[in-house]
Amino acid sequence: MEDIIIIIIGAGPVGLLLACELSLTGARPVVLDRRPQPGDTPKANGLGGQIIDVLDHRGLLERLSAGSPFFGVPPGFPFGSVPLRFAGVDGIPLRMLMIQQPRLERLLGERAAELGVRIRWGHEVTSLAQDAESVTVQGEGFALRGRYAVGCDGGSSRVRELAGIGFPGTTDDEQVWLGHFTTGTETGVFDHPRVAGLGPGWNRTPAGRVLVTSLQPGVHIVGVREVRGDAAGRVTIADFQAAVRRVLGDDLPLGEPIWLSRTRSQARVAERYRSGRVFLAGDAAHLFPAGGSALNVGLVDAVNLGWKLSATLAGDGPEGLLDTYEAERRPAAERALMQTRAQAALERLPQEEGDALRSLLTEVFAYEEPVRHMAALLHGSDLPYGSGGHSLIGRLVPDLRVVTEDGERRVAELMHRGRPVLLDLVGTASLDQELGGRVEVVRARCADAPAEAILIRPDGVVAWAGSGGDGLAAAAEQWFGRGSVGAVR
Ligand SMILES: Cc1cc2nc3c(=O)[nH]c(=O)nc-3n(C[C@H](O)[C@H](O)[C@H](O)COP(=O)(O)OP(=O)(O)OC[C@H]3O[C@@H](n4cnc5c(N)ncnc54)[C@H](O)[C@@H]3O)c2cc1C
Repeated sequence: MEDIIIIIIGAGPVGLLLACELSLTGARPVVLDRRPQPGDTPKANGLGGQIIDVLDHRGLLERLSAGSPFFGVPPGFPFGSVPLRFAGVDGIPLRMLMIQQPRLERLLGERAAELGVRIRWGHEVTSLAQDAESVTVQGEGFALRGRYAVGCDGGSSRVRELAGIGFPGTTDDEQVWLGHFTTGTETGVFDHPRVAGLGPGWNRTPAGRVLVTSLQPGVHIVGVREVRGDAAGRVTIADFQAAVRRVLGDDLPLGEPIWLSRTRSQARVAERYRSGRVFLAGDAAHLFPAGGSALNVGLVDAVNLGWKLSATLAGDGPEGLLDTYEAERRPAAERALMQTRAQAALERLPQEEGDALRSLLTEVFAYEEPVRHMAALLHGSDLPYGSGGHSLIGRLVPDLRVVTEDGERRVAELMHRGRPVLLDLVGTASLDQELGGRVEVVRARCADAPAEAILIRPDGVVAWAGSGGDGLAAAAEQWFGRGSVGAVR
């Protein structure tokens, strides 16, 4: 039996980012993954929402966006099939970054290696047991005991099952076929007359929906959705072509398959995010039935949990700190579930009812305020953690430009080390005292300061904002423990 402090099960994007966060904030995790090596399955094509701002806080945005075909505020977003147009509307917080999932995992893996994270490939967890002091995970040829374990092992999480956590929700009766193909002819599948008549996104046919698109030269993506009984086993090119024929009414010159998949959308949130010493994060905790939110919610889970686990392991975490993980992140998943279910419903409604609802929403989305509201919903910032006090509290700190003694900085740059920061914007002597060594105090000037001082958690969330220090000591104690407030007056 090997003793480890913290065990992460799953080296997908969420497990890798959690490992980075833990290492950055002082814990030493071990990551186990059943795959023999990092994979190249082309799942997500991009990230969007709050996670972009959070990755900026860690100084990771530059490396992730290098060479990306798109990074920034998108001109719009297809909500269900209703276009939301952001161009020309002020105050859109939503940024998107196109990055293929294998590349995202490779870059997060490189970052984890820089931080000294140990990843053990070919380690499939098959059993889990816990008592008051520890959790033990085992698989063929290994047994590890840790103080905590986190299941980042995806939608069909074994950890969730072994921890006895239910995963209520629904599975769509529609089958989704997705394939990536290398182009067979000069323009490949796009030469076909049936494809020339298709619009961007999913196209309705009498038998289902079909998508033909390309995100990189020489490779096209074909998707088919159809209501059909369960089929199990490996997907062959013949199965795929048959699905295309059923839904489009014709064969397509698909080319050479790179990757084929057949899934059903699921809409689920785990009934608990914690069972004793075991936590869930990412797809293990939630699955959404429409695109665009899974990585945003899952990766922010990792950043929310990382510093709380590190503080608890270091003995600095206040009572109940770990419980705030579920209290903050489960509502975020519920919110994403609501909007992705709405998107899925918009796509699935019968033609007449669907057309009526889509027309109505198109009219509503012509106004700026609903568009801003939808952008905040998709960004994940419309629901602050907790309520009361200054309007910044419970939200991601705005990326203000401040002038420190080292020159001009963005607030995001002050968060690279993953430490709590007290940003003292008026040089109030009573505030910039040493906060027990756990909080970094940065004295700065800011032309449009929203408060005299802002206390920022390691995950970039504002713990306190205000003037004169009223409530600061209580907030520092609430989030960073008793030792953090010794010198605050
Ligand atoms: C076709 C497709 C397109 C998508 N597009 C997007 C998109 O554009 N944007 C977006 O945000 N999301 C998208 N998603 C969803 C996104 O891919 C997932 O949300 C993401 O992979 C979840 O990351 P994760 O780390 O939680 O889990 P996973 O990526 O599933 O990683 C789980 C890891 O756990 C390992 N594991 C599982 N069981 C065990 C075990 N018992 N022991 C040890 N290891 C184990 C697995 O090998 C795997 O490496 C898409 C998904 C698909 C399928």
